[in-house]
Amino acid sequence: MNGITPVSKNAFVTMAICEKTKKPFGITVDPIGRNRYRFVWAFKIDKDKAKREHFDKKSVRGEIESDDNYPGCPYCGRAGYFFCDCGAIVCNDSEYGYCPNCGWRGELVYGTVFNVSNGGGY
Ligand SMILES: [Zn+2]
Ligand SMILES: [Zn+2]
Repeated sequence: MNGITPVSKNAFVTMAICEKTKKPFGITVDPIGRNRYRFVWAFKIDKDKAKREHFDKKSVRGEIESDDNYPGCPYCGRAGYFFCDCGAIVCNDSEYGYCPNCGWRGELVYGTVFNVSNGGGY
C-alpha cells in the first residue's frame, strides 16, 4: 500500500464505526504531543480480530487532527468523524450525526478537544 504516512513507535490502533454501514473499522493513531493525536490511516477490521488485538481497549483523549493521507472511512470514504458521548468514533461529514453504537441522532457540535474513551461494544 502506498501513501501511508510513517508513524512513530508510539502509534496504536483505536476502533471506530461507520455511520452508514454500521461496520467497525480501525484507525491508526499517532500521538504527536501531550494529549494530541493524529489520525493516520483507517482500515476494515472485523470485531473478533479487533478484540484479539485489543484494539477496542485503546482510547484517544485530547486534540485530534487528520493526516493529509488519512483515507477516510474504509466503507463509505468519508474523511470526517465525530466523537459520540457513548465513546464511539463515528465516520461523518455533515452537521448531523447518527451513532450506530448507541443510537444517538442529532446535530453535531464541532470542537477540537474531545474526551473519548473507546470502550468498544459494537
Ligand atoms: Zn463510513
Ligand atoms: Zn454513541
